[in-house]
Amino acid sequence: MLYADVIIDISAAALDRTFQYRIPESLSGSVDVGSPVMIPFGTGNKVRKGYIVGIGNEPKFDPGRLKDIIGPAPKDLSIEDTMMGLAYWMREQYGGTLYDALRTVLPVRKKVTKQPKRIIRRTVNEEEIRRAYAEASAKKHKAKARLLEPLCTQDFIPYEIASGKMNIAKATIDFYVGAGLIEVAVTGQEMYSGDGLNVPLNEEQQKAVDTVIKKRGEGKPFLLFGITGSGKTEVYIKVIERVIREGKQAIVLIPEIALTYQTLLRFYRCFGDRVGYVHSKMALSDRYLQCEKARNGEISVMIGPRSALFTPFPNLGLIVIDEEQELSYHSETTPKYYSDEVAIKRTRDCGAALVLGSATPSVKSFRRAETGAYILLELTKRAREGAELPKAEIVDMREELTSGNRSIFSRKLRQAMTECLNAGQQAMLFLNRRGFSGFLSCRSCGEVVKCPHCDVSMTVHRSGRLTCHYCGHTAPLPTVCPSCGSKYIAAFGTGTQKIEELVKKEFPQARVMRMDADTTKGKDGYETILSAFAEGKADILVGTQMIVKGHDFGNVTLVGVLAADLSLGVSEYSAAERTFHLLAQAAGRAGRDRLPGQVVIQTYRPDHYALIAAAAQDYRMFYAQEIRFRKLANYPPCAGMLRVLGLGKDEAALNEAMKTLAEAVKTNGVTVLGPAPDGMRYAMDIFRTVLYVKAPGKDALIKVRDRLEQIVPEGITLQFEFSE
Ligand code: ADP
Ligand code: ZN
Ligand code: ZN
Repeated sequence: MLYADVIIDISAAALDRTFQYRIPESLSGSVDVGSPVMIPFGTGNKVRKGYIVGIGNEPKFDPGRLKDIIGPAPKDLSIEDTMMGLAYWMREQYGGTLYDALRTVLPVRKKVTKQPKRIIRRTVNEEEIRRAYAEASAKKHKAKARLLEPLCTQDFIPYEIASGKMNIAKATIDFYVGAGLIEVAVTGQEMYSGDGLNVPLNEEQQKAVDTVIKKRGEGKPFLLFGITGSGKTEVYIKVIERVIREGKQAIVLIPEIALTYQTLLRFYRCFGDRVGYVHSKMALSDRYLQCEKARNGEISVMIGPRSALFTPFPNLGLIVIDEEQELSYHSETTPKYYSDEVAIKRTRDCGAALVLGSATPSVKSFRRAETGAYILLELTKRAREGAELPKAEIVDMREELTSGNRSIFSRKLRQAMTECLNAGQQAMLFLNRRGFSGFLSCRSCGEVVKCPHCDVSMTVHRSGRLTCHYCGHTAPLPTVCPSCGSKYIAAFGTGTQKIEELVKKEFPQARVMRMDADTTKGKDGYETILSAFAEGKADILVGTQMIVKGHDFGNVTLVGVLAADLSLGVSEYSAAERTFHLLAQAAGRAGRDRLPGQVVIQTYRPDHYALIAAAAQDYRMFYAQEIRFRKLANYPPCAGMLRVLGLGKDEAALNEAMKTLAEAVKTNGVTVLGPAPDGMRYAMDIFRTVLYVKAPGKDALIKVRDRLEQIVPEGITLQFEFSE
């Protein structure tokens, strides 16, 4: 006898209290996990619809008292069915359990109290607001200036954005209410100022919009390939406008870090309070409220990071993925999904359009555009006049060394920094590497001090202790080398902390700020640092990848990339692509406004095409080289690849098992590389070995995964990751 766990309430919480039913013989085979079914429910045995989320052969209660499932529920087009179907599909594609998938897809139900819609509206004319804004700016009253700035050009801003994303205290709002400049109004009716919709598009933009409207029925995604500042967002807005007019809804994915209040207000200026947004640090109840608004039609546009993909819009007409190459669109927890693939699935199922936008598309997407699977739309010019692309220069650090310069700053960069600071402008120094500070190595034997539990080097923290950033293990700094006893042991390598110190030493008059995983831990951590920098509270911002993602700082005229090739050393087939994206973005940070910008890229590998193409801001040059390499080596996107990570306590047994598994799945057309130790050979005392499986397509790889799951021996855990 089979028993089914059924949920009735479609929310993540329901997963913790499922109801068990018997699956009568007559139904076996016609219902499965994920199926909608009709069931008798409660004391009155009212017939209701539920979904099977698990099947087993153990009754959890007295089997005689369990009720039978009545039968499969008729398929309908409800949003619940759609989301259940999506979860089911994700489990198939990305592995894990249906529960994992459902937790990702379904909203977490929370008690919410509905707030009335409130806005902050100006009660005086634009001139007076401008005057007050100028005054607040001059006095460096930042919060006041922040509040008034958008009101210089628009009649109102939503209260929730002012108090939320803009981080403006009630006292500040009250101050201007008291001064008679603004009022807080409760509005019951729809507000649709539409101001933002009046930007006339240039020819290229118009063509892009027209093409999306005209060809969206073909079921192919669009790739909007447009240089930074070419007006991609304007294109999204015009397509959204159209979709809303048709009574449909749109989802706009934006990398979390680029989701600033300026971006949100831009959408509000167009669509007023038809706009909703989510972000990862939002309270669950607020998030749930947004979901409810989407479900019942109160909003038509949802903006947010990858989780916004699961907004339960009943009549979805469009999904936009901005900066589609961003790695943050890949989930790192099970199910390890790719947002673009899920978006393709969701838009195909309901006939909606999908627009992927980028200045430097992923190799995968550009390849698909090249082969005709995507429709390519191009924007080649900057939309606003006067904004020039910065000049970038590559500096060969080997030459610096031969001419006796051992500092981390090349002569070129040092000079540029001096000039920049003298001119009262700002500089950003980007370290192409994660990590906080140097690691300890022995100058006699070369040994690097590693974590005793993980195959990673420990880093030296400012606290003076060694820390493993993988498992958190800490240890005191050794005074002699643990392997040879030499006392010549020293911190090596430069992390952001170290660089911050060096900058302060070389430029004692400059105010330096640092942005990395360490300084941005808290809520709004990175926003606080970025807005402080934007407000001119520092001259130099030192940081990791975070600082290069889509921010506009008008006064930044110099971007220095220290050790540009660090990410090339990574043993992944996509290392060059990652390096190119990071450098191209970093270079794009300089000279965003009227001031001309300069970029200095320091490297030990000045001839690498990823660096040369990034310095030239030439995507096609990079792509041409990269796709040749991928074809030659049979790597994605020219072939499908599945990474199989095996985990086990006994290394020898693990390797034996992985060898056997590799042999078992090798067939015609399926090649297996490995087993080989993972980049991190062990972590938390568990050994890690990888296989790479290559096959022409995803379907073949899914079969391989299913087979491996069946035959994996006891004591070994497999984790799967598809490269697409
Ligand atoms: P992207 O998203 O491609 O980086 P944006 O859409 O943010 O570019 O546009 C860059 C700047 O150009 C913005 O300030 C925007 O208001 C402006 N802009 C966009 N399209 C036009 C246009 N057709 N005419 C004038 N300004 C425009
Ligand atoms: Zn040593
Ligand atoms: Zn560790």
